Amino acid sequence: MTAPERKSLLAYGRDEWPAKVAELGGKPFHAKIVREQVLGKGVLDYAGMTALPAGLRERLSAEVPLWSGVEVARSSAADRTTKLAIEFPREGARDAVVETVHMPSLDLDTDDEESRAGATLCVSTQAGCPIGCPFCASGQLGLSRNLRAHEILEQYVRGRALGELSRSVVMGMGEPLLNYKALTEALDAVHDEMGLGNRRVTVSTVGFPERLRAIAPTRPRFQLAVSLHTPDDEQRGELVPAMKGVPVEEVLAAGDDWFQHTGREVTYEYVLLGGHNDTDGHAQRLARRLRGRRCTVNLIPFNPVAGSPWQRPTGRDVERFRAALEAARVIATVRWSRGVESDAACGQLRLRRTQADSATL
Ligand code: SAH
Repeated sequence: MTAPERKSLLAYGRDEWPAKVAELGGKPFHAKIVREQVLGKGVLDYAGMTALPAGLRERLSAEVPLWSGVEVARSSAADRTTKLAIEFPREGARDAVVETVHMPSLDLDTDDEESRAGATLCVSTQAGCPIGCPFCASGQLGLSRNLRAHEILEQYVRGRALGELSRSVVMGMGEPLLNYKALTEALDAVHDEMGLGNRRVTVSTVGFPERLRAIAPTRPRFQLAVSLHTPDDEQRGELVPAMKGVPVEEVLAAGDDWFQHTGREVTYEYVLLGGHNDTDGHAQRLARRLRGRRCTVNLIPFNPVAGSPWQRPTGRDVERFRAALEAARVIATVRWSRGVESDAACGQLRLRRTQADSATL
C-alpha cells in the first residue's frame, strides 16, 4: 500500500494551519511566521526560518512538505522567459500537469517606470481545458481536472522564486470562471499575504455572460480580459466551442455591465488566425460592435500549435488589422507571444510532452 499523500504547507489553508502547528508543538504566532516567511518573504526552506524554535523547524521539515507539486520540466528563452511544467499528484484523481510562465518585462523604451521594471507571471487554473478552442494547445487535451486553491497559489510562490512578481495574468491552462472558487481563494492569499494587488492581476475568460454578471459586483476586483476572437456569432461557435449559441452581443453586454460595476474597462482578446478571422471585413464588423464601448482590443498573432491548420499572420497583416480598428476609433494593442522558441506559449510544453509520450507508446 502506498503511503497517504502528505499535505503540503499551503494545502492546510490559512484557517487550518495553526491547528497543525499546534499539533507539532508550536504556538499560533509560529504558524503566522511560517506563512509570512513563505508567502511574504519567499523563504522556501524551514531551516531558514530562524525565528522558529529549532525543534519545530525539524518537525516541520519532517512532516509538512513545502510543495504539493513537482517541477517536471523547465525551459528558458532568450528573452528571459522561464516556463515551468508542474505536476500536482493527487490520490484518486487524474494526473495534473500545468504550466506557469515567468516573463520579465521587455518594455525597455517605455517612459512608464512600472512597465519597465518587474515581471509578469502567467498561471493556470485547470489541468487541461474543457472549452476546446481549435487553435489552443490546452483545448486539444480536454479537461483533466480543476486545480485546488493551494495548487494555484503554489504557482505564484514558485513563480516568485524565479524573480520579481509585479503583475500576473490568469491566462495559462484552463478556463478560470469554471474553477472560480479556487481561483478567488488563491487570489485572496496572493493579495493579502504576497502583496500583489488585484489591480495587477488580469483574469482571461471566454466570458460566460451569466457568470460575468454574477461576479461583477463581488470581490476580488481583478482586471478582466475576454477572449472574443471574432465579431461573428457563427464563427465564435467554431473558435470557442463551449460558447456556441451565445451571441457575441450578449458577451459584450456582460462586458459593459462589468465596466459599470467595477469602473474597469474590459480587454477583448483576439487571436489573429491568418486568412481566417483577420480580413478587412472582420476588422470592420468588430469595430462596428465595439465603437462607443469603453474597452480595448488586444490582438494576439496566432502562435502555431502542431496539427492546427492556421498560419501565423505576418507583421504587415497584424498592423493592417490594428490600423483598421484604430481608424474606426477602437483602441487596439498587439501582443506578440513571449518565449516562442522554447515552447513558452501556454499549453505548448505540456502538449509537446504528451505528444512525445504517446509517440513512444
Ligand atoms: N480560457 C481562458 C484563458 C486561457 S487562454 C481564455 O480563453 O481566455 C489565454 C489566451 O491565450 C486566450 O485569449 C487564448 O485564446 C489565447 N491563446 C490560446 N492559444 C493560443 C495560440 N496558439 N496562439 C495565440 N493565442 C492563443
